[in-house]
Amino acid sequence: MKGTSKCNFDKKGNDVMKTQIEPFKIKSVEAIPITTKEERIRYLKEAFLNPFYLRSEHITIDLLTDSGTTAMSASQWGNIMQGDEAYAGSKSYYKFEEVVKKITGFKHIIPTHQGRAAERILFSILGGNGKIIPNNTHFDTTRGNIEYSGAVAVDLPTKAGIDPSTVEDFKGNMDIDALQRLIEEVGSERIPLCIITVTNNSGGGQPVSMQNIRETKELLSNYGIPLFLDCCRFAENAYFIKKREKGYQNKSILEIAQEMFSYADGATMSAKKDGMSNTGGFLATNDDSLAEKARVNLIITEGFPTYGGLARRDLEALAVGFEEALDEKYLEYRIGQVAYLGDLLIKAGVPILVPTGGHAVYLNAKLFAPHILPEHFPGQSIACDIYLEGGIRSCEIGSVMFGKKTPDGRHIPPPMELVRMAIPRRVYTKSHIEYVAESVIKVFNRRNELKGMKIIYEAPLLRHFTAKFDYIK
Ligand SMILES: *Cc1c(COP(=O)(O)O)cnc(C)c1O
Repeated sequence: MKGTSKCNFDKKGNDVMKTQIEPFKIKSVEAIPITTKEERIRYLKEAFLNPFYLRSEHITIDLLTDSGTTAMSASQWGNIMQGDEAYAGSKSYYKFEEVVKKITGFKHIIPTHQGRAAERILFSILGGNGKIIPNNTHFDTTRGNIEYSGAVAVDLPTKAGIDPSTVEDFKGNMDIDALQRLIEEVGSERIPLCIITVTNNSGGGQPVSMQNIRETKELLSNYGIPLFLDCCRFAENAYFIKKREKGYQNKSILEIAQEMFSYADGATMSAKKDGMSNTGGFLATNDDSLAEKARVNLIITEGFPTYGGLARRDLEALAVGFEEALDEKYLEYRIGQVAYLGDLLIKAGVPILVPTGGHAVYLNAKLFAPHILPEHFPGQSIACDIYLEGGIRSCEIGSVMFGKKTPDGRHIPPPMELVRMAIPRRVYTKSHIEYVAESVIKVFNRRNELKGMKIIYEAPLLRHFTAKFDYIK
């Protein structure tokens, strides 16, 4: 199953997609706003050319994120009515805990209101000055929480993982040799944990192989360093393993997920992704002393350990959501929908990160707008024009999100300049996807008109959320 398996085209270059139907019917609908070009020009200007400032009522198709934007099922909504809103010992918590334990096998399951709360708790305990925390690629909030604690966040993707054009099955993998070099260089005592993010969100939603998780664990065991999974998209990752990695074709998604977690000592999760819900997360660990510290922190900041800042009905939605995420028919549609958008763009010559990953299509901004230097934010410029064209919101993942500065103020770009079009789960239909492709292709066909940008305001951390921009005249 090497090479082009299930990724857009077969070995002869033929399109392997067949008509794919949404494996659900729609019970409740929500109208989407349709705006005029003049309106969009005004809205974008009022948003300081940052799509994060746009109001959703001005957005036709919102591909800013797949986080918390899932359409919940009738079964989830039904269970929400069963929520046991007890402050302590809620029935709903035990349902949630049972499902998460079944999938992950971890001893302590600590609910949080979303993923970054789990990260904050974890790194406020294990982080701090002098500590170094490696990851295949840190997500922005993970990096933010580590740096906020005083520790250093190190990304160790493979070479293929930072080349948008290399087609490989598991571009999300950790560079294990680089990890070993890092441990030898800084000393294992400075590395309180190592993280693998599945799928590798900032690296293009690319999956991590079982072999890579297992071998990372083996290496870390030699040094006594625990392995955590940032497991927001564990089900999507498990689906890729089933389709692409030898020996997993006949295993269920649940079995594959269980094996993935068996190599880890703990996990943080934003359940707003593969929890198929609008909010929620958890911190999980097998370490009793870490769990105790985490629960103390949780009680001070999030809530009692049987709700962790969530309404108990949210835990009901999650208990059902985790099961639904493991449904192979759903995953086939999910990954297929993302690939479909990728295929439409590839056919029109639009440069995207290949193969398409689990939850999003990433435009390769360096090739899309090569006339704009990284320090002039090509991805941001493209994201703005895609909004102007079709009222579609996407998200820059490049120099705005991850750019750094030298002490004398020069720009250090990250390895890739991307624009992420994340697909919310079960929300948009095939025609919505085709509309997105048509809009992006129109922008691509007039790409020479795209203009570079400059930042006119930025916050000290996670600047992409609130930065304000202007075009370079
Ligand atoms: C979304 C996400 C997070 C943070 O979770 P929130 O629920 O948004 O706080 C952390 N890591 C990864 C890989 C994510 O995708």
